[in-house]
Amino acid sequence: MKTQAAIRQARYRLRKGVIPRKEWPLRFWGRVDKSGECWIWTGPCQGKGYGQAPVPGGRSKRAHRVAWELVHGPIPDGISVLHHCDNPPCVRPKHLFLGTAADNNADMMAKGRQRPGITHAGNRGWSTRNRQRVIGAGNPAAKLAPEQVETIRARRLSGEPLSRLAVEFGVSETTISRIALGRSWR
Ligand SMILES: [Zn+2]
Repeated sequence: MKTQAAIRQARYRLRKGVIPRKEWPLRFWGRVDKSGECWIWTGPCQGKGYGQAPVPGGRSKRAHRVAWELVHGPIPDGISVLHHCDNPPCVRPKHLFLGTAADNNADMMAKGRQRPGITHAGNRGWSTRNRQRVIGAGNPAAKLAPEQVETIRARRLSGEPLSRLAVEFGVSETTISRIALGRSWR
């Protein structure tokens, strides 16, 4: 007996034709615009701006994850592929790095992609609402000077408790944690 998923997949294959495994990387990179600094996926995109790339078997995956896998091999379970360039449709391997969902959150905070107080739903991408730029005082880390951010990172790395740093710098423990995890604080 066929499962619903199998039936859906069979229909998809009929519609699209099965992509031979060997041709698949070529097809992938053939749909990428490499004319700029960021390499932009020109195929279908999700609402959140991530490319969706077909993969063998008639399914589709996030294009930037496919790009990573084509270059580096399989992504470990539970790991996200994040963008240095903060550009969801970008699939340039040089602009991608691996991280956990926590890294993703910290990265978003550091880049001002998420409003404070909104809990991000793991590594499934961020909603349009969360992608609004956070400017000035709305950004919790904006309360801190860059030197303070560096100090917090260094002291957190050397093992100081979140609570002590939070009190000293007058921000929440969450903020300290995000700053400590952030990779691209500017
Ligand atoms: Zn890029």
